[in-house]
Amino acid sequence: MKRLFAAVILLFLLWNADNAGSASGKTSVSSGFPQTVRVRLWYLHPPRELRLRADAGQAQFRKCAACKPAVVSTLVLHATGSSIQIDGDKSSTTELHISGAYQMNAAGDPPLRADFPIEIRANDGHLLITALMPMEEYVAGVLAGETGNFKSDEALKAMAVAARTFAMHFGSRHALDGFDFCDTTHCQDLRIAGIDAHLRNIAASTAGEILWYDGEPAAAYYAANCGGTSEDGRFILGNDEARAPFLLQHSDQYCVRNGGTQWRSEVSKRDLQRALATDGIVVPGTLRSVAVLHRTPSGRVEFLRVTGSGNVTVPALMFRSAIGRNIGWDRLKSNLYDVSDEGNRLVFHGRGSGHGVGLCQIGAEVMGEEGHSYREILAFYYPGTKLGVSAQGTPWQQLANEDVVLLTTQPDRDAALLTLVTRFMHEFEESTGLLYRSAPRLKIYATVAAFRNSTGDPGWIAASTRGRTIQLQPSDVLRQAGTLESTIHHELLHMLIESYARAGTPLWFREGLVLYLAGPNEAQSSARQSFEDTAALEKALRAPASEEQLRAAYAEAYIRVAQLAQQHGKQALLNWVQNGLPTEIATGTRLHDGR
Ligand SMILES: [Zn+2]
Ligand SMILES: [Zn+2]
Repeated sequence: MKRLFAAVILLFLLWNADNAGSASGKTSVSSGFPQTVRVRLWYLHPPRELRLRADAGQAQFRKCAACKPAVVSTLVLHATGSSIQIDGDKSSTTELHISGAYQMNAAGDPPLRADFPIEIRANDGHLLITALMPMEEYVAGVLAGETGNFKSDEALKAMAVAARTFAMHFGSRHALDGFDFCDTTHCQDLRIAGIDAHLRNIAASTAGEILWYDGEPAAAYYAANCGGTSEDGRFILGNDEARAPFLLQHSDQYCVRNGGTQWRSEVSKRDLQRALATDGIVVPGTLRSVAVLHRTPSGRVEFLRVTGSGNVTVPALMFRSAIGRNIGWDRLKSNLYDVSDEGNRLVFHGRGSGHGVGLCQIGAEVMGEEGHSYREILAFYYPGTKLGVSAQGTPWQQLANEDVVLLTTQPDRDAALLTLVTRFMHEFEESTGLLYRSAPRLKIYATVAAFRNSTGDPGWIAASTRGRTIQLQPSDVLRQAGTLESTIHHELLHMLIESYARAGTPLWFREGLVLYLAGPNEAQSSARQSFEDTAALEKALRAPASEEQLRAAYAEAYIRVAQLAQQHGKQALLNWVQNGLPTEIATGTRLHDGR
């Protein structure tokens, strides 16, 4: 019998649930996509005051969604605690709905002209302003924010499709905060002030077109400049959504023609040590040297060894963000670099900027200028996706209850799983004290081949979890292998832990914790294979070379976490995953003691 693993599973769990009871799920078929998106403006720095002026006397406001509208010409708002004060109006309100055409001024920015509705609330003395933007206006605003000085219309159209697809794929990223997207690069950089007729035309000329993969909007990542070689999405640490077969490492002959992709920068060792410490990476003694430990197949740095009076292994993504946040984002523009030692300073020679996954903006611009169409640009950067306005590919059926969404091509076969999932979720919420932040989305493939094609995972992987989506091999295949319920059990626990895991939490710890929390299992009795260091273990978990290696890596992760649990208790581990691991544990400096 074939043994099935999950990317995130599944080692010999002894525990097996009884068969699930009968289905109680209501069937609904997924329908169209939202034509309006809710965007939080001034997300990072919500203003304390907002001034609104009606354009041509057309603006209206209401103090609640169902209240009678009042016509206004000007409105000055202040936040006090969680209420909104309107100048000249004695009564305060907790919400305000604006519609019509108006200009708004806030945070010292130039006035913004808009004609989409906004909703305003207050929190802690700040105004929380949410715009209800038509999708195509949002796309035009993202083009203004993300494409800077693109000259080629075809490149702009390609970006319009990428931005729209990205929004469709990620859906309501901030649903728990009451909106869909923020206006920063966390979601997509939105610049309303930069929207003009040209960008609106670009959005309109591709209206509704998105990239499809396996019947769903693709995770259309894009980056400023890949430096001549794009990155495989799986290497964006802590962002498993980026793992997709169309986000591959490949060379980009276009962006390199533009020249200017090389950069050089310096960081003093003292500044670096301080920056790392600020982000919780403590280098013992005085920082003496930095060396590249591992690179990804694209040549990007994956792990570094930082040496003081001892060694610390640091993921390159944490290293870059520590320097970016604390010294400046201009220092390490990408992870495609060499590092050399020059006394008190480190010198970095690199190429490109950004993570390098998906569409390369500089390359797209060159393609456009050389006469390629936006379709060709998209086909080059997202190979295997299909461009279209309506669903292309698998006819997914959606089943749902209050707790879970299930996508399947065989609803009759899989409906019973809804009850099982709900039961597991309640069990985990009780045992960990953590609550699910969003409804899990289980996607059960019709065939093993479809699963492999879509996930890019080998056939011995049973399932994998990316964000809130759990992708599974066909349920009858897993049932036959005797691993259906234990796989779902493991993946659901993963999803819960992942949603609380602090960015940069090592994968071995997340994996090991899930295996530990899942209860009795035989991971520890698996054949031991030694891993050179923590970086090698991380690598084996993220991109295992073989089934055996993955199995050994799970065993090692489990053993490490079980030992930590013995020393510190389960609650400490749950706290660490949320707030960060103690440095010596995160970097593995202490783990090899006495082993
Ligand atoms: Zn966001
Ligand atoms: Zn490129």
